[in-house]
Amino acid sequence: MILLLFLSGWFCGLLVNYLSDVLPLRRQLTAPICTGCGEKLSLTQYLVWPRRCPHCGRARLRSWIVEALFAIIPVWLWHSPAQGIPFWVSLILFVYFGVVIVIDLEHRLILHSVSLVGAVIGIFCGVVIHGWKATLLGGLSGLGIMLALYLFGWLFLKVIIRRKEGDERASLEDEEALGFGDVTLNTVLGFIVGWPLNVFAIGIAILAGGLVSLLYLVFKLLTGEYRSFMAVPYGPFLVSGAVIVLYFWKPLLAIL
Ligand SMILES: [Zn+2]
Repeated sequence: MILLLFLSGWFCGLLVNYLSDVLPLRRQLTAPICTGCGEKLSLTQYLVWPRRCPHCGRARLRSWIVEALFAIIPVWLWHSPAQGIPFWVSLILFVYFGVVIVIDLEHRLILHSVSLVGAVIGIFCGVVIHGWKATLLGGLSGLGIMLALYLFGWLFLKVIIRRKEGDERASLEDEEALGFGDVTLNTVLGFIVGWPLNVFAIGIAILAGGLVSLLYLVFKLLTGEYRSFMAVPYGPFLVSGAVIVLYFWKPLLAIL
């Protein structure tokens, strides 16, 4: 049994790696490609060995990390199942979460295609977990809250830009405090987590994101690399908030 769980996890990890390699560069499902030089790779090179690009020599450490993590996830899910979430629904959700996190960390990007497919997955899984009403209200509130934060961030940036001059102003005009991808992502997470728990998920994400940004800022100040504005990928925090509420809600309540 445990071998079967490992294998299903490994397969999910492969899927996450493949989608995270191909989608940001090609925006569609193609043959596996090298993320370094864009050359096509054969399936055995890509999946089995040597897992190193013959054209530019790029090896992919991330592939191993993702697959190792994903090999453990089904074992954990099987032994401590979350209430109300069927095992196979969890697997689908974790593949989606994995793709969002890897692409956002590597490219600071939340793809529209991923969000669109995510919305279908999210509504489907949401209905299975907590029914239509909580799913739709979760999506709507997730959209509303993030849209408000997005507009607030946009206004805040506009105010800062007014007070800056020259080069710094030009570099700031390309920035976005919160990407619009975060808004679509949070809508999908709203479907999945469901109303009203999704509000707690957003709260956890904002707290965690703020804390990590602060630590990062202090670190940059200490090492003297401080810039006035730095974009942080918020996708991983939003997903973490959702995972904590979905899978660790009971222990969390016990702590509080
Ligand atoms: Zn290559």
